[in-house]
Formats: sequence, structure tokens, C-alpha cells
Amino acid sequence: MSKFWSPKVNDLVPYVPGEQPKMANLVKLNTNENPFGPSPRVIEAIQAELNDNLRLYPDPEGDSLRQTIAGYHKVKPEQVFLGNGSDEVLAHIFYGLFQHGEPVLFPDVTYSFYPVYCGLYNIEGKKIPLTDTFEINPDDFRQPNGGVIFPNPNAPTGRYLELAKVEEILKANPDRVVVVDEAYIDFGGESAITLVDAYPNLLVSQTLSKARSLAGLRVGFAVGHPDLIEALNRVKNSFNSYPLDRLALAGAKAAYEDEAWFRKCCDGVIAERERLSAALEKLDFEVLPSRANFVFARHKSQAGELLAQGLREQGIIVRHFSKPRISDFLRITIGTPEQNDALIKGLQSL
Ligand code: PMP
Repeated sequence: MSKFWSPKVNDLVPYVPGEQPKMANLVKLNTNENPFGPSPRVIEAIQAELNDNLRLYPDPEGDSLRQTIAGYHKVKPEQVFLGNGSDEVLAHIFYGLFQHGEPVLFPDVTYSFYPVYCGLYNIEGKKIPLTDTFEINPDDFRQPNGGVIFPNPNAPTGRYLELAKVEEILKANPDRVVVVDEAYIDFGGESAITLVDAYPNLLVSQTLSKARSLAGLRVGFAVGHPDLIEALNRVKNSFNSYPLDRLALAGAKAAYEDEAWFRKCCDGVIAERERLSAALEKLDFEVLPSRANFVFARHKSQAGELLAQGLREQGIIVRHFSKPRISDFLRITIGTPEQNDALIKGLQSL
């Protein structure tokens, strides 16, 4: 703190991202990255852009990528908004599409960036407890609010909400924007993008960081009614007109053009998730049913924090949250078969 700081900065409680350790050779299962890496076509597209075009500003609207994403999801380009990772898309949503002065509803537990954006924009956040089985109950989202946001599948639980239940939340809030954060949708869930034409209050956000293995490139997007997208564009153009650089635009487009690679990565993660869940159950863990690229699991007798520490001493990093209700759990990203074997072996030795 210093006398030069705005008082607003004094009050900020920033998001703390998962650790990105500098050491090599770690089994890194802590930030839900994709173990299989991006399509080779992404690397080629970025290389071509690097060779030819860095001198030039990127397209501020990212038209070519928006067309590709729109075509893929069978919507119109004016229904797609691009951002520098879905975190940035979410920031603009909190600013531009929630009614400030009324509480924004999100589950407890959920992605911990939501309360951070509430703090940044001085919005009240109201946490809606999950059920005993760590599920979202649509009935709890029938109350006055300035907007609703939840991940589907939820993070860090991995639990999936069926689309019929998503629709219940949409129908209960016809005058408020309901945001479905689908960062993990490609690992076995059904996207709510198919509902955007039926619900003008629905906005779906997705990322290329997970299923498309591009966490380092920073590309996310939202799909919804053109009126919602127009608001997001106004916010974007009041903040940074070029959120996606040329490499990101080119690489992201190429990722969408390699469906076979995408499917192979998703199928690989799903198969490993099922294998790892069964192995953890054999080791006396309770494993929540996951549709994400991670599992959320607690041991029946050993403390989560100690297990995370014990794994770390063996060079295996998983995520442990010291929040109430979930402090017994470990969130374990699905790795390669070899990494998952190392994790199982590591746990067996504790
Ligand atoms: N939403 C959820 C639920 C997440 O877990 C993450 C990843 N931490 C994001 C959004 C942000 O992803 P990105 O900014 O990499 O697109």
C-alpha cells in the first residue's frame, strides 16, 4: 500500500491462480490443463502468422475466428463475442450484463473468480449453497437477483447440471441474464449453446484453454442473443479494442478446424477420468461423478491437505482448497496415462 494507490485498490481481493511451478519433471495435475497438447495445425497456423503479419494490428472484431466458431456451433457471427481467455469474457459480463445494485447469484462452492469480479465492480455476490451431494438446485435460483452465473460442469466439483435444469433457471429469471460458464463442457456435457435462440437471457461462455489445449494462448468466447453481444462489445471497446493478438486469432481458428484432434483429446481425457476415478475408489476415496477434465475426491480417513503435501514431496502437484466444506477434497486434473499412474502410485505410498 502507498499514498499513490487509489483507495479502491486497497480494497481489492484478487484472484489467486493455481501454481505454475518453475521446476521441470513435475507431474502437474493442479490447473486443469490438457495433457495432450494442441493440434499440430495450430502450431503451423501460428508459425505462418509469426512469419508474415506481426507488423500489423489484429482484426479488433476477430471476424474470421467468430465466423468459424459461429459455424461450428450453428449460430450467427453476431451471436459470438471473443475475449482474452474466458476470464476476460466473464469480467465484461459482470460489468456489462449484470444489474449492479442487486445481488448476483452463484453457487457455493464454485469458480472463485466470480466473487473477485463482484469486488472489482462493487457488485453484491450472493452465494447459493450446493445440495448435500454438491449439486446445483435450480429452485434455489428463484429469488430476486441482478443476474445468475454458474459453471456447467461446476468447478471444482465436476458435477454436471442437465440441460432441462438449466432451462428451469432460465425460465425462473426471464428479466435477468443467466450465464452458463462452460469451461469444461467438452468432457461429457451437453452445451447450452443449443438453447440461445430460445432464451434471449442466456449467455454461454466457453474457453479454448481446456479441451483445445490452448491455455497459454488465452482465447475464450461467449454465445448469446445479439443484444447481449452488443453490450459486451461496448465494454470491450471501452477497455481494450484488441484483446486477441494475431497469433491467438490464427491458432484458435486452426484448433476449430481440427475436429479429429479435438475428439481424440476429449475421448482420451474421458477414458482416463473413468479409469482414475475407479482407481481412487479402490484407494478408499469418495469420488464425485465428474463430467470435467478433473475429479474431486476425498479420502475416507486421511486429510486432504496432508495428502496434497505428501504428493508434492514426490513431485506430484494437485489442488487443495482450504475453504469450509471442501477442505477434505483434492481436485485432481486428468493427466496422461503415465501421469495418472504416477499419481495412483504416489497415493498408494502415503
Ligand atoms: N471458468 C472456469 C469455471 C474455470 O475453471 C476457468 C479456468 N480457471 C475459467 C473459466 C477461465 O478459463 P480461461 O480464462 O483460461 O479461458
